[in-house]
Amino acid sequence: MTEFPRDAILVVVEARASGELEKAAAGLFGAAAAVGTPVALILAAPDAGGDAAAEAAALGAARVLIAEAPEPSALGVPGVDALAAAAEKVQPDAILISHSLNGRDLAGRYAARSRAAVSVDAIGVSRDDEGVVAHHSVYGAYNLTSTSTFGAPVITVRQGSIEARATAQPEASETLAVTPSGKPAARIDSFDEAVAATSRPELRGAAKVVAGGRGLGSEEQFALVEQLADTLGAAIGASRAAVDAGYVPQSQQVGQTGVSVSSQLYIALGISGAIQHRAGMQTAKTIVAINKDGDAPIFEIADFGVVGDLFKVVPQLISALEARKK
Ligand code: FAD
Repeated sequence: MTEFPRDAILVVVEARASGELEKAAAGLFGAAAAVGTPVALILAAPDAGGDAAAEAAALGAARVLIAEAPEPSALGVPGVDALAAAAEKVQPDAILISHSLNGRDLAGRYAARSRAAVSVDAIGVSRDDEGVVAHHSVYGAYNLTSTSTFGAPVITVRQGSIEARATAQPEASETLAVTPSGKPAARIDSFDEAVAATSRPELRGAAKVVAGGRGLGSEEQFALVEQLADTLGAAIGASRAAVDAGYVPQSQQVGQTGVSVSSQLYIALGISGAIQHRAGMQTAKTIVAINKDGDAPIFEIADFGVVGDLFKVVPQLISALEARKK
């Protein structure tokens, strides 16, 4: 194989057991292509089927390195070993990883081991004279940039935040030889498979989110949020007030101390729009708010707003959406 491109951006993506790449992959390659030449490192699940390398090339990877998990029960360390081997080989200008749970874990562990700088939760990247710069939206109120003063920055990218897509490339893949570091790893001794209780999309990375706040009034009435979400095929989110009141579990909380989303559509029902809530949803592409208080701060950032009682407006909205499906 020839040398790696001088402006290589190493994009780390996980392949599921089915062989498919994680959903955030397209955005990661899109971001990488805007500042250099995307080179993929695929962390493949053991015995993964499918053709992750072909998918990576179709998403814009000029070169693809495939690291197979050598020790399926070891957590964390094999991924860092693979990333260290790939970074050594590729000498990238930056490393892009999804801001998922696994991605954050990998970014932090790798940065600690290699003494690289980490920029977390970026919603974009650019390049200046000195290297790759990460862009962040903090509390939904401030836009700031970060970069490293030495070495290639490790940047975790918020799922759903990048709309750009890279041009497909011819497939050029190879297996990455990884020498296990032997560093202590957490190990899985046993596990119970949790059956997903819902077929709804996962909140983090969802294209559409319907979120409910204190205005729903009770756990029973929060079902209206679920109905609208199911009509749209959306994930469910909530304000902290709704979580604190016990309408939904904390895992559904959007905001500063919850999940950050950059969905295509975010519908806020009975949510006032406190800065801590906005911190987690302000980068959504289209925001719709339904609130009976016309002065609620959520309307300051909404693309479409309905001032009205959600218990009257939402059933009508659901009927109209259902009628369209027929
Ligand atoms: P409220 O502010 O009480 O708003 C309810 C809204 O519902 C009102 O605007 C009202 O007009 C409307 N309403 C009521 N009835 C109806 C109806 N029938 N039809 C239509 N509209 C109706 N909050 C988060 O969401 N996420 C976080 O991660 C988060 N982190 C925090 C971290 C810190 C350190 C602190 C201090 C706070 C944090 N908060 C967070 C809390 C935040 O400040 C707000 O208290 C919270 O977001 C309010 O939730 P809410 O909008 O549902 O409730």
